[in-house]
Amino acid sequence: MRHPPDPTSKAAIEDSALFFVDTARATVSQEGEAMAYSYCCKDYPGMEACPAAFTAETEAELWKHIELHGATAHQEEPDKWSSEDRQQIKNLIHEM
Ligand SMILES: [Zn+2]
Repeated sequence: MRHPPDPTSKAAIEDSALFFVDTARATVSQEGEAMAYSYCCKDYPGMEACPAAFTAETEAELWKHIELHGATAHQEEPDKWSSEDRQQIKNLIHEM
């Protein structure tokens, strides 16, 4: 157990933030994976006005969100997306 730093100094606040990051990482690492994948719909050409953004623990789950969103919000048909379409989306997926 670390002693809580003095909250009045800037260094202490940064140290405190690091402590919380360490704690979060420790919790996630019990599951093995600390990776996340994100996608912002507005990054796709022609979708600049769309506010939707998704983050998921796995790329497979993220694709489900993208497909559902495409079908729901943009009347897309994910079943008919070509490998080029999917590659273009994949290029916009960020690992966090
Ligand atoms: Zn969208």
